[in-house]
Amino acid sequence: MARDRVRCFLFTDLANVFYLSGFRGTDGALLVTPKETVLLVDGRYGTQARRQAPHCRVIVYAAKVSGIAGEIRKLGCSRIGFEPGAATVAFHESLSGELPNVSWVRPSEWHASLRAIKDPTEIRLMRRANRIVDRAFRETLRRIRPGLTEREIALDLESEMRRMGAEGVAFPVSVAGGENSSLPHARSENRRIRKGEPIFIDFGGCFEGYQTDQTVTLFLGNIPSRWREIYSVVKEAHDLAISSVKPGMRASELDGIARECIARRGFGETFSHSLGHGVGIEIHEYPSVSVRSEARLRPGMVFTVEPGIYIAGEGGVRIEDTILLTPRGAEPLTSVDKVLRAR
Ligand code: ZN
Ligand code: ZN
Repeated sequence: MARDRVRCFLFTDLANVFYLSGFRGTDGALLVTPKETVLLVDGRYGTQARRQAPHCRVIVYAAKVSGIAGEIRKLGCSRIGFEPGAATVAFHESLSGELPNVSWVRPSEWHASLRAIKDPTEIRLMRRANRIVDRAFRETLRRIRPGLTEREIALDLESEMRRMGAEGVAFPVSVAGGENSSLPHARSENRRIRKGEPIFIDFGGCFEGYQTDQTVTLFLGNIPSRWREIYSVVKEAHDLAISSVKPGMRASELDGIARECIARRGFGETFSHSLGHGVGIEIHEYPSVSVRSEARLRPGMVFTVEPGIYIAGEGGVRIEDTILLTPRGAEPLTSVDKVLRAR
């Protein structure tokens, strides 16, 4: 904030509001000044805000825009940092309409990477979240058999995660078999899974506000040799990326290592997305691990490594783990073994 020469910053991105205050409601705003932090919420959230954010001064407003504007007037700020990515045009226009003398400042680089380095408490929560989800997956795995629909498996895993202690899913579980698995972001369909086809299961849970993310690809019955080969290429790229990652490395370099490994084996065109993404309060957050990423990987960052090969009309294989970067290298938070599985 000092670098941006603002003495007041208005956070409206709820992930950042939670990160900075502890408040987990679905609406609200946070004003940060050098002297104090003010949490502004509507009437539904007064009690919750005081409980979850005891170090904040809590203001319950009747109307959001005039409530925030009134507090800013009282603080007497004339330059205010704000979050352009988390304010609608309508919200920003009406707020600046109420505060004609305020200049609004876009934050510099610090803002994008605000939550990138996880502290020990966050790491503990993320380990716990992953333990819950891994246990749930192992339970569901025992019940997977030919003839079940993708949606039946997704439902089973989702409810198992909750049963094991997750507060919910990080995103709807994606079970994709056969041709459906050639879509990296497939939705679970009402199709029945069959022997000999690749089936990927992309799943994550949420615990105390932190998300997990992981993908397992498995087969039922015999594994056709072509898929055996494809799996080994993806696994090699995955393992190589995890063993190569070092603090200080550019995220784009790590993406390149996996991409080159897949390209060397002749599947370059089929790896159609980035290698990974940060995970934390949001399922996709800083840093992006992609060719275009400007980020450097630092100890304390938590991100996924998820190479994949997708053959249009046939199917696909993705192997995804979430790792914590330590000074010594990658430490996986996900523990489900990514050996080639045939059930
Ligand atoms: Zn995933
Ligand atoms: Zn992912």
